Amino acid sequence: MTPDQMHRLASRATEILVDRITNLREQRPWEGEFRDVLEDQIGGPAPEGGRPLDDLVEQIVRDVLHNNARQDHPRFFGFVPAVPTWPSIIADYLVSGFNVHVGTWLGGSGGSQVELTVTSWLCDWLGYDSQAGGLMTSGASAASVEALVAAREYAGHPDAPVVYMSDQSHSALPKAAYIAGVRREHIRLIDTDRQYRIDVQKLSDEIQQDRKAGLNPLAVCANAGTSSTGSIDPLLELADFCTSEGIWLHIDAAYGGFTVLTPEGKELLKGIERADSVSMDGHKWFFQPYETGILLVRNLDHLEAAFATGHDVIQDTVWGANHPNFADRGLQLSRFARALKIWMSVEMFGLSKFRAAIQHGLDLTKQAHAFIEQHPQLEVMAPTTLSIVCFRIRPNDRTYSEEELEELNRVVLAQVFWDDETFISSTSLKGVFTLRLCILNFATTWQDVRDTLELACRFGLDAAKKGG
Ligand SMILES: *Cc1c(COP(=O)(O)O)cnc(C)c1O
Repeated sequence: MTPDQMHRLASRATEILVDRITNLREQRPWEGEFRDVLEDQIGGPAPEGGRPLDDLVEQIVRDVLHNNARQDHPRFFGFVPAVPTWPSIIADYLVSGFNVHVGTWLGGSGGSQVELTVTSWLCDWLGYDSQAGGLMTSGASAASVEALVAAREYAGHPDAPVVYMSDQSHSALPKAAYIAGVRREHIRLIDTDRQYRIDVQKLSDEIQQDRKAGLNPLAVCANAGTSSTGSIDPLLELADFCTSEGIWLHIDAAYGGFTVLTPEGKELLKGIERADSVSMDGHKWFFQPYETGILLVRNLDHLEAAFATGHDVIQDTVWGANHPNFADRGLQLSRFARALKIWMSVEMFGLSKFRAAIQHGLDLTKQAHAFIEQHPQLEVMAPTTLSIVCFRIRPNDRTYSEEELEELNRVVLAQVFWDDETFISSTSLKGVFTLRLCILNFATTWQDVRDTLELACRFGLDAAKKGG
């Protein structure tokens, strides 16, 4: 392409993006289309000849990019939203353009140094000492696989390994355990208490029983913010327990981990610095684009012992002890420089802006909890710990059975979805259907949260009237 054509394409893309982001509030929080429509628009064989760029870009925006949940919309409260900032988006663009490879020091020393710097920031924030380290991954799912492989190798690759986690753990954790070689029947989901925290006594009983049966307890996976309710397992108690039992402690902090940057979160996550490994997601509560996963281990040697391998064709890349090849810390050899987006956005805004943005989510969620609690037709369904509030509509004109309430709240969820004003999702708390808001967008206002709760309530009361 000529420089002129390159400029034109990039300017058009920039124009589209700035326009999208600055007008986000005027758009719907969700957009999507059915397969048969999209197949018509985007399907078909690869073309032998090319086509004009302007037309192609317009089509990509209209048919591909437009059909997407707007998780960064101030009224998107579903799942765990991702809300990337502009400098982190640009960092990904620059990394692609410079074709940065951070598998080896020789391949990308600048990018490798940024990854060292960012992972050492993260270790600092958690309270890890200088023995600790880690790497960037695609997400917490990949980080969990790498953590459990490290745990397995540290334990000497025992036969019949068993992994323990609470019944609130993310599905990524059982999946990681299967991939790391744990049989499905050896994944123990331990009961939780009324705050959705793992029952340490039950955990201990299971472990003793498994040892007696000749199995090998390999790792306990604790939660520092479950994705259902935001609950945090008793981390200090688990750290003591795992130390005395000689079992690897992995903490899934994908969603909650970055709250350590606030005094409140630091207190809530006390003990996280004693975990053998911690997984986090910058694309959750640290305002990064997707694929900003992080794995940190308390002792970096344990990661390198599991993943470092030699290879003839990259023998020239070994620069020595102070020059790590990130390929020796995890699965990937060819690796995208994911750390630059964190480095660039933190260097640009300063950490205090991030702390304030995280605190904003905590504050709005407390306000939402209080609002639901004092509302005669709304019910809080779980303790609120971080930025998730679980609730349902319970009309107070008569007594409703559990079945009726589930039916009613499912109707509310569907109506909110098709209404296009706001986006919420649901979860199941020990079998009870529950609506849920995850509030972490720095651009979300109390008005956004309140309107969403009031809309859900109105739909619920209307449905109750019709149903009754
Ligand atoms: C999102 C999430 C995961 C999975 O992380 P990915 O980045 O989607 O792979 C695991 N655990 C928790 C608590 C999460 O919120």
